Amino acid sequence: MSVSKILSLLMVLISISLIVLSGTYNPHNYVMTFSRGEIKSVALNLRAGESESITLKGTDTFTFYIMNESKYNSIENGNFTGSLYVNTTSDESLVFTAPGSGVYYLVIANVNTPGFLQVSVDYGSHNGMYLLISGVLLFVASILVLVYDILNFKQEPVSFDTVCPNCGTKVSKSWHYCPNCRYILKGDDDEQ
Ligand SMILES: [Zn+2]
Repeated sequence: MSVSKILSLLMVLISISLIVLSGTYNPHNYVMTFSRGEIKSVALNLRAGESESITLKGTDTFTFYIMNESKYNSIENGNFTGSLYVNTTSDESLVFTAPGSGVYYLVIANVNTPGFLQVSVDYGSHNGMYLLISGVLLFVASILVLVYDILNFKQEPVSFDTVCPNCGTKVSKSWHYCPNCRYILKGDDDEQ
């Protein structure tokens, strides 16, 4: 087995692992339960320009805020104004891009729903997307390595089946000239 075959096999195995992993990999997927009036938050540490995809699904209506750290700290005073994002919904799906580096808070509040409200929280799934893209790219690369290997393999090795009658260098019957002394081994008329 050639080195490139082993390499491409290895790449296929890694790429399949990445693709499988990307479908299941999500470190941040859980359900939160709220009584009426309850507020819960998730802190995200993001770099400037970094995006986070967020999906929330509630059993009933909830209010969702995204705040920076200073706004979040002012919630204690009952102040919800100045949030970067506000929506009252039972189904939220968005991509949040951090305007600057820092800690951002995803704040979920059960303002109106009596009894218990459950919200399934899902974020950070873009990590899985990176895994999927790397897996697919690696798979394509492994195919290219395999194709390169097959094409190379088709070049048949030269067989030195005779010697030059002029200088004695090992040559192939299919050659027209001796590479050593340029002696004509066969004319154009006696092909095949
Ligand atoms: Zn020769």
